[in-house]
Amino acid sequence: MSAEVRFFEVGPRDGLQNEKTIVSPSDRVTMIEKLSSTGVRDIEIGSFVHPRWVPQMAHTEEVAAGLSPVEDVRYWALVPNLQGLKRAIGCGIDHVAVFMSATEAHNRKNLNRSLDESLASLEETMQAAGSNQMSIRAYISTAFGCPYEGEVDFEQVLQIGDQLLSNGAEHLSLGDTIGAGTPPQIREGCRRAVNAFGADRVALHLHDTQGLALVNALVAFEAGIRFFDGAVAGMGGCPYAPGAAGNVASEDLINLFTQIGADCSVDLDAICEASSWLHSEMGLSGSGRYLAYWQAQQDEEGS
Ligand code: MG
Repeated sequence: MSAEVRFFEVGPRDGLQNEKTIVSPSDRVTMIEKLSSTGVRDIEIGSFVHPRWVPQMAHTEEVAAGLSPVEDVRYWALVPNLQGLKRAIGCGIDHVAVFMSATEAHNRKNLNRSLDESLASLEETMQAAGSNQMSIRAYISTAFGCPYEGEVDFEQVLQIGDQLLSNGAEHLSLGDTIGAGTPPQIREGCRRAVNAFGADRVALHLHDTQGLALVNALVAFEAGIRFFDGAVAGMGGCPYAPGAAGNVASEDLINLFTQIGADCSVDLDAICEASSWLHSEMGLSGSGRYLAYWQAQQDEEGS
């Protein structure tokens, strides 16, 4: 029996929020509709961060209102705090993602508070989400490298993860935010996280800064990870990491896991069509590799 691999599509949030082009709410809805017909079961549709900080994610209420429920697809929104959670509740979102860093310096730069302050504030937000029967994903950024502190003590990642899961997160997403992770480091970290929490409670969030994202995805799979974040087209980046490339492209991940015989339940052609639409209609391009190959094959079939 082949291994089942799940994907969490972050393109409409983590992808778009780092693009210079601001995509309109109606185009964001179109993008999410295209993704929701690919077979992917989890899609992050936007965030409720103040638009002063992330103007690309203004009007997420409109995006949520424009979406119809799709069977077996969960729509998620990123919320920084109680205020953001209230906005999510206000537009009928049932699945929320919270976030903090694994390192003091990145957390202070990104969130203006210490790790302990973040844990306390997230506990409050997660309690409120839990009492509204919402499911919660918890991102831990800089889990494999920090732009300020360099190497990260993975024991600290596990401790933060343990606390976030105890506080009600359904699963963690371990972020290689700046794409610093090496294959041996990713293998070891993922092995420890899967041992500590179980494969169903850990996702991996890779960036392709060094061209190592797919290699890292493969070693993580060998270490037991079965849940991967991807952004269609490989959009995104990190504002605090010069030269940081985009999120690993969803189509690159799905192609990899299809090629090794895993059970992906996502239609690769449909993901490529969504990626192709972003390039041609929205003028967005990411760091994905597979799309060009797919397009060449389409051209050949058409000729
Ligand atoms: Mg990312």
